[in-house]
Amino acid sequence: MLDTSSSNPEQPHLCYDLHCHSTASDGSLSPRELVARAAAQGVTHLALTDHDTIRGLSEAGEAATQAGVTLVSGVELSCQWRGHTIHVVGLDFDVQHAGFVAAMATQLENRWQRARQISDRLGRLRVDDLLDRAVAKAGGEVPGRPHFAQALVDAGAVRTVALAFKRYLGAGKPGDVKAWWPDLPVVVGWIRDAGGVAVLAHPRKYKLTATKLRALVEDFQRAGGRGLEVLTSGQSDADTAFLAALCRAQGLMASQGSDFHTPGAAWCELGKVPPLPSGLQPVWADFRQAG
Ligand code: MN
Ligand code: MN
Ligand code: MN
Repeated sequence: MLDTSSSNPEQPHLCYDLHCHSTASDGSLSPRELVARAAAQGVTHLALTDHDTIRGLSEAGEAATQAGVTLVSGVELSCQWRGHTIHVVGLDFDVQHAGFVAAMATQLENRWQRARQISDRLGRLRVDDLLDRAVAKAGGEVPGRPHFAQALVDAGAVRTVALAFKRYLGAGKPGDVKAWWPDLPVVVGWIRDAGGVAVLAHPRKYKLTATKLRALVEDFQRAGGRGLEVLTSGQSDADTAFLAALCRAQGLMASQGSDFHTPGAAWCELGKVPPLPSGLQPVWADFRQAG
């Protein structure tokens, strides 16, 4: 089997995974389970980057200390840019920074507002307590569309999750509610103000043309963004080469992460990304925390 661990030619014993999710957002492992799995996979430096929340970080921190893994503070923030939803990973920030903590509360409220809207718009299905059912499916956290789909199936309103999406939750259907997100410079500012590094997450996943992606990267840098996620799971070599070139041309630092959500996907495992292309400045060279 091909070894695709994120080896570092100069420090081969170090393995960085700076993008993954736990049950604090849409991952399936608790922060503690996630850290244990990362340690077993040989990850030495881990950033837990749940969507718009840092709730998982204290549990992850305790587990990391026990497992001998260095935990870097992390988050994946949703924002908008020219009508696209863009994800920005924040790394190595002060988790107690008051402005940042307040910003996380705002993002959480945005997610709840969207959940209430989805619930309202599916009201004609007459499922009692749909929002509560979806919240239960989300383990008490803010439910997303998959949780509503499961709740609808459980309530007998539709036979399968796939059908729930096809009829009620998929693109253009009543439950397809877009969340409201702040503009790109706002979320980059939150990360910077808290002393962190802002990284543009999985830049090839937005399906932007090369020209538009360059415009996004320029706006991102103008706002104070400093890193590009050059390596993510399931990315083609051509895309990696494109991003590495963009990184060099723009003088950005390079980040890497699996974007792990759940065990069982062969193409996505904690710590498993190819080595960073040569000639790039790794984002972790600048970390205060993970020396
Ligand atoms: Mn996710
Ligand atoms: Mn993302
Ligand atoms: Mn992610």
